[in-house]
This record gives sequence, C-alpha cells and structure tokens, in this order.
Amino acid sequence: PTAMREVFLETPKVRWTDIGGQKELKQHLKKVVERPLKFPERMQRLNVRSKKGVLLYGPPGCSKTLVAKALATEAGLNFLAVRGAEILNQYVGESERALREIFSKARAARPSIIFFDEIDAIAAKRSGSQGGVNVLTTLLNEMDGIEELRNVLVVAATNKPDVLDPALMRPGRLDNIVYVGPPDFEARKEIFSIWMKKSVIGPDVDVDELAINTEGYSGAEIISLCETAGEAALDDEDTTNEPQDIMQRHFDIASKRVKSQLTSE
Ligand code: ATP
Repeated sequence: PTAMREVFLETPKVRWTDIGGQKELKQHLKKVVERPLKFPERMQRLNVRSKKGVLLYGPPGCSKTLVAKALATEAGLNFLAVRGAEILNQYVGESERALREIFSKARAARPSIIFFDEIDAIAAKRSGSQGGVNVLTTLLNEMDGIEELRNVLVVAATNKPDVLDPALMRPGRLDNIVYVGPPDFEARKEIFSIWMKKSVIGPDVDVDELAINTEGYSGAEIISLCETAGEAALDDEDTTNEPQDIMQRHFDIASKRVKSQLTSE
C-alpha cells in the first residue's frame, strides 16, 4: 500500500448556482464537459477531439475548487480530489505509483474527473530534483493515455501558473487554460446573497453597500466576512439570550476583523 491516504471517490454537491459570478467561465466549462457527453457524433463529424484537461489558475479562494466540483455535480461525473503536495511527500518511487493508481481508479469510475489541487507541487518546470521529474513524466504519460474526455477529465488548479512545466499545457493535455479571478461587483453581490439565503439577515443590511466595500476580496474572504458577522450576532445572543438576526452593525464589526489578504499581496 502507498503511504498516501486513500483517494476516495466523492460525489460533490456543488451546483453552478452555489457559485457567485464567473458567468462566462461556467458557460465555457459546461460546454467543454457536456458537449462530448451529449453530442459525440457532432464532434466526430467535424473532427474535433474532446478536451482531456483543464487548468484553472488564479489567486487563492476564488472558487477554483468549487468550479471543479460543480463540473462533476452538474454533469454527473465521479470526482477524485488529490493535492499535489500529498503526492510528492512519499518515499522514492511511491509518488509515481500513487499517481498511476489515481488514474486507474478514475478510469474504473468513469465518467470521472480527477482534480489536482496545487498542481504546481508535482508539475514545476523540469529543473527540480530527479524525483520531481519522474513524477511529472508519469503525470504526462498518464494524461497521454486517456483516450477521451468522455471518460476521464483532468482538472488542475494552481496559484502559480508561471512555475508549471510548459509540457503540461501542450495540446491534448491541460490545454484548456482558464483564469479564475477575484469576483467583480455583481459577483460579490451574488456571493453575499448565496450565503445570506441560508442565514437570517436584518432589514438594515444593504448588499450593494457590502459589495462596494469588499472590492478586491476573494470569494473565500467574503464568506469569512459573513461568518464573522454571524459570530458577532451570536455574541449578542449570548448577552441577551434572545435570537438575533444579522444586522448591519454585525457586518461593521466583522469588517474591522476581516481584511482582504488578496489585495495586499
Ligand atoms: P485555493 O487556491 O486556496 O485552493 P480556490 O480558488 O480553490 O482556492 P475555493 O476552495 O473554491 O477556492 O473557495 C474557497 C471557499 O470560498 C469556498 O468553499 C466558498 O465558501 C468560498 N467561495 C469562493 N469563491 C466563491 C464564489 N464565487 N461563490 C461562492 N463562494 C465562493
């Protein structure tokens, strides 16, 4: 057995509607995944091969993982998630074996998605250690072996696309390169609203105002702001022993506590 924890098949429950903003990206990726499943004969007729791999890049907390999961949920694909660092931290030779196992598991579970988070950990330019090179070579070999997107789609995510080995992005590999950026004003409003639907929000809370004041925040930071406001309301409940809705004053407290790391990077 490998030293790596078992990679379990998941059935994610993330829907496109759980993700604020990213409209074009959603449409684009939907097409990439659904077209080969729905219209294989159209693709064959026009001699267009299905995509095998998608690279999602962009700053942390901006929904790369959510997008990968939504792709699986919405198209009814099995989902295997692996972190790059997890694969690399193994005895000599074990990383390669772990990688091959993941692909064989994904083939057995097809149609499926393999999601590699922090792909840079195993696919940095080939200047690194010998071990790292072997892992990258194994990854490229496995990707070249997947016959069609209909079966197994590789989705990889990174915050550091510049360190990736260009061989990984060649046609037929992770050649579908998609930037997943911080939410704009409309997207921030949506992210707030998605969270607020599952909470109890007071009438004085103005989502437009919150979205204006969170320019440069990642989606993860917006969720963190909401939860911190929720905690401030819970503090009030401790004091009053009465249920409290989340009011603007709770968001005021939260915005002093939660600052965006994203913009200050
Ligand atoms: P990392 O690079 O750190 O892995 P990521 O880009 O994969 O980050 P996610 O894990 O998808 O980011 O997002 C983290 C969390 O932030 C999500 O679980 C969700 O709660 C929230 N979030 C981020 N973006 C959005 C969004 N557009 N809509 C709703 N929630 C979001």
